[in-house]
Amino acid sequence: MFKKKSAIQIRIEGNHDKSLEIPTVLLKYWKQISISAVALVITLIGSIAYFAAIKKAEDVSAKYQAALDKINQKNEKLNSTQLETQQDILEAKKSFMKIDSTIQSINGKMKKRGINTKLAIANTGGPVEIDEENIVMLSEYYENLLANVEKKMSSIPLGKPHNGSITSRFGYRVNPFTRRGREMHSGIDFKGRMGDPIRATADGVITFAGYEGQYGYVVKVKHKHGYETRYAHLVRTQVKKGQRVEAGTVVGLLGNTGRSTGPHLHYEILKDNKKINPEKYFEL
Ligand SMILES: [Zn+2]
Repeated sequence: MFKKKSAIQIRIEGNHDKSLEIPTVLLKYWKQISISAVALVITLIGSIAYFAAIKKAEDVSAKYQAALDKINQKNEKLNSTQLETQQDILEAKKSFMKIDSTIQSINGKMKKRGINTKLAIANTGGPVEIDEENIVMLSEYYENLLANVEKKMSSIPLGKPHNGSITSRFGYRVNPFTRRGREMHSGIDFKGRMGDPIRATADGVITFAGYEGQYGYVVKVKHKHGYETRYAHLVRTQVKKGQRVEAGTVVGLLGNTGRSTGPHLHYEILKDNKKINPEKYFEL
């Protein structure tokens, strides 16, 4: 189609005429060709603009995606934090329920000993719902309650005044001197060595420290709630009448004075002036 050529003459002032050979088809269709060229350029520019726009859109969408990812991460973190808090609350609830049941057990065991401890439980297993708001209040409640228990417990004779083995229990027994006939043994005997420290089993005040008949050297301590404890057959006493002692204070040293067949401690608990079995108080 470009083989057919047509000559055109170009005349420029001051120069010789120049003749130029151009394919005839170009001359014939120059309008269409021009339009096509323009259309092509427009298409090209359009395409470039289009792809640039797409690229920009992609950039924007990537930014949005990043922001969205961040939000999602924050959400996930928040959810896991909430989950942790829920687990913490569940753990707290478990411990609170355990404390409640322990308090109930203490109340029951104390009642058997004639003591009304009046320790109220929070009843977290029941109507009390635990959330982030009242968990602090409940903790404070238990703290106070346990402090109260500790205070009450400290004036009740609990545990042993000496850790030796028990050689004679509370109740009727064969007379240890004559080996004949029965007698009432109104305390607990602990085997031990001369001079072993003997410790008060509760907070209280010394009402007697000295020698008294069959007891030999004896220490008597008065406690709250109508309790009294006695520590007998001591080689010597370590306290004075009127002195305040705490649970664990050494009141005297183990001996063999008074009506005794060998070194041991004779320990008594009195409740409202009546001798009771101390063994009930050795363990809670
Ligand atoms: Zn005894």
